[in-house]
Amino acid sequence: MELLDGKVVSRGLKDSIAAEVAELKAQGKRVPFLVAVLVGDDDASKIYVANKDKACQEVGFGSTVLKFPADITEEFLLKEIDKLNKDPEVDGFIVQLPLPDHINESRIIEAIDPRKDVDGFHPTNTGRMVSGLPSFLPATPCGILELLKYYNIDTRGKHCVVIGRSNIVGRPMANLLSQKGIDCTVTICHSRTLNLAEEVRRADIVVSAVGSPRFVTADMIKPGAVVVDVGMNRLRSDQTKSGWKLVGDVDFENVAPKCSYITPVPGGVGLMTISSLIANTLRAYKKEIYAW
Ligand code: NAP
Repeated sequence: MELLDGKVVSRGLKDSIAAEVAELKAQGKRVPFLVAVLVGDDDASKIYVANKDKACQEVGFGSTVLKFPADITEEFLLKEIDKLNKDPEVDGFIVQLPLPDHINESRIIEAIDPRKDVDGFHPTNTGRMVSGLPSFLPATPCGILELLKYYNIDTRGKHCVVIGRSNIVGRPMANLLSQKGIDCTVTICHSRTLNLAEEVRRADIVVSAVGSPRFVTADMIKPGAVVVDVGMNRLRSDQTKSGWKLVGDVDFENVAPKCSYITPVPGGVGLMTISSLIANTLRAYKKEIYAW
């Protein structure tokens, strides 16, 4: 078994982006700028946003976090988004999900200018992705593809089972894995899937994005399979300083010995998500996807 090490791969991606930013600075040019919008004070969201902000600093991007209380109105947030859409100094921005219940997430995502939608959640980017056109790819699936590529994982004709069908992970992941050039045969599973364990047992590559600790157990894994664990589940722990421990969806201890490759949690997909967001921001800055 070999680890799909998100630390190594994301470090490499960030180093190459940092070198490009240093070159921009040396030429006296403006550097890429990412804004993260955080509504409310969900602990996990605060950590994700702080990590994204830190990654921007590491590569030399400008960045800022706009923090708003949970009781702002949808109209207020839409106005803030409009300002970011129009701000020429802002190359890309993200609105950290989930939003408070009284704010309609779809309405917010649709208000983001697709050219600044570095999370790749806007329907224009989703539609372009599905059509195989240049688009901002959602950061988590995009990061997973980078990880598979780095470790030369053979995807062509392989059977991949994606567990989870969210718009931000499972669904785009399944779509990308089935695209020409990647060429997996994809099964997508969800809470209504019958005989899920049987489906997963047939997989050469398993991507789990459920959000449930120890959901994927060793008996579900075909010997030699590649296992990608997207889950980020925070469990109470008296063995850490923070009082929390991060675990994935996969029963790592028992699954790892059966796999050819597996991602650790932490240190796997989460880091790749952040470096893909950074890469998308550089693409937005360079207008690689959409000509202005
Ligand atoms: P989500 O929107 O809650 O989707 C979860 C999916 O899992 C749904 O499609 C759901 O099926 C399915 N599911 C739930 N229980 C199931 C069961 N018993 N059997 C089969 N399928 C089941 O979550 P998400 O946003 O995709 O995130 C999933 C996990 O990934 C979470 O732990 C999240 O924190 C993590 N995540 C990590 C990263 C990263 O960078 N590592 C990024 C994003 C998310 P239904 O559709 O039928 O309800």
